[in-house]
Amino acid sequence: RAKSAGGNRYEVADAEADARAITRHGLTTALPMALDRSEFFIEYQPLVHLEDGTVRGAEALVRWLHPQHGVLGPDRFIPLAERTGLIVPLGRWVLEQSVRQAREWQERHRDKLGAGPLRVNVNLSPCQLTHPGLVQDTVDILERAGLEPDTLCLEVTESALIGADDEVLKPLRRLAEMGVDIALDDFGTGYSNLANLRRLPVSVLKLDRSFTQGMQQFPADPVDLRIVEGIVSLAHSLDLTVTVEGVETGAQAEQLRILGCDTAQGWYYARPGPPERLHDLALVDATG
Ligand code: C2E
Ligand code: MG
Ligand code: MG
Ligand code: MG
Repeated sequence: RAKSAGGNRYEVADAEADARAITRHGLTTALPMALDRSEFFIEYQPLVHLEDGTVRGAEALVRWLHPQHGVLGPDRFIPLAERTGLIVPLGRWVLEQSVRQAREWQERHRDKLGAGPLRVNVNLSPCQLTHPGLVQDTVDILERAGLEPDTLCLEVTESALIGADDEVLKPLRRLAEMGVDIALDDFGTGYSNLANLRRLPVSVLKLDRSFTQGMQQFPADPVDLRIVEGIVSLAHSLDLTVTVEGVETGAQAEQLRILGCDTAQGWYYARPGPPERLHDLALVDATG
């Protein structure tokens, strides 16, 4: 009996694995066409200044409106795009759209706000980093849109830069020299040597959501608090700005503000949404 039950379970697991493989295969074949068919779109999630609560910009997060499967999150298709090479044109498209969007926010805001320009953060995959066109593409996109380089921030994960040699860092250095901010995304998950930070052309640390989760209770776990406190003070001593991801409650926001974090992002403020909404949120904060 045990054997047949085991056999059944195996069949079920197998069927699920098959279904997943079929979906993955289907997505992989549909992916190259999706860009031409304009099935991708971008949602923007506000970046909020922790001290005064104003919206300072937003992170661009790509989605795929699949004709059969509905809206798919990046975790479903970015790995496939990386494997097939589509990530290079897709990433370029995301950058171009986001830079144009930032330019539009700025135009609508110019006369209304005394605050600085709204900035935009765009994620880069490791494949884009090693692609020879990165610097020139970025320069062209910024110029075409008429956006100042210092209102763009490119996010690169910590794991993409671990052990990166000078060849890989060179394009990022060029971009940083032009004034583009480079953020180290998901910081704290990649076991990187803290001293290594000095070598990287980054100006922003994005503290991974796992740290924010540790701040859920009030008061938070004292060890968690001290770890974040240490990272923040190290980051500030290296002239880096600290952004925290995954802020879901007011208690978390308050703890992280007390710990000296600069900027926050998370559902507590807003879920990722259409670009018009960022404009409205920024206006509300500035006037109310
Ligand atoms: P990420 O860059 O770390 O982006 C933050 C992720 O956390 C987003 O997931 C966002 O929706 C989610 N998030 C934001 N606030 C909260 C919160 O309060 N609680 C929780 N639980 N989650 C929150 P999303 O949109 O599914 O993106 C996942 C990842 O996909 C991103 O992680 C990024 O690495 C990648 N990605 C997104 N867009 C692009 C892109 O255009 N290019 C590349 N290469 N990667 C992208
Ligand atoms: Mg990111
Ligand atoms: Mg992140
Ligand atoms: Mg993350």
